[in-house]
Amino acid sequence: MINLIMNLINELRSYFVTEKMEYEVVGECKKCGKCCNYMYSFDTYTEQEFKFMQALFPSYKRFYIKGKDEDGNFIFACKYVSKEGLCTVYNKRLKMCKIYPNKKILYPAKLHEGCGYRVIEKDFEDYLKTHPKK
Ligand code: SF4
Ligand code: SF4
Repeated sequence: MINLIMNLINELRSYFVTEKMEYEVVGECKKCGKCCNYMYSFDTYTEQEFKFMQALFPSYKRFYIKGKDEDGNFIFACKYVSKEGLCTVYNKRLKMCKIYPNKKILYPAKLHEGCGYRVIEKDFEDYLKTHPKK
């Protein structure tokens, strides 16, 4: 009975495994400063939204709108990055700065050109290697 239940669960899971692509981030920071000078936000499309976010999260007041990319998306920068690309408030940097770039992400990511990190896509074959058949 337990086997049957497990088989059913595995059958159900199999419908999702092929969709599940893992992205692992490896490498190390080269201290170029691009990620502090050119940032994107998933959910900020207007200046009003940006101001609202800053009112909601005062720590975001360190960010400012630097310009727009060719698709019209805002590019943000931090006022605490030095000309050399280093953080001038390193010990007080935000959590999002500390964890950047996340080692495991759930969506395809694009890092800055020349960034010391790179994204490795783990496909179904990799999944099978890390989840051997019992
Ligand atoms: S873009 Fe990459 S290499 Fe440059 S500072 Fe950011 S994490 Fe480091
Ligand atoms: S607080 Fe420091 S690490 Fe974070 S974005 Fe600003 S300059 Fe970069």
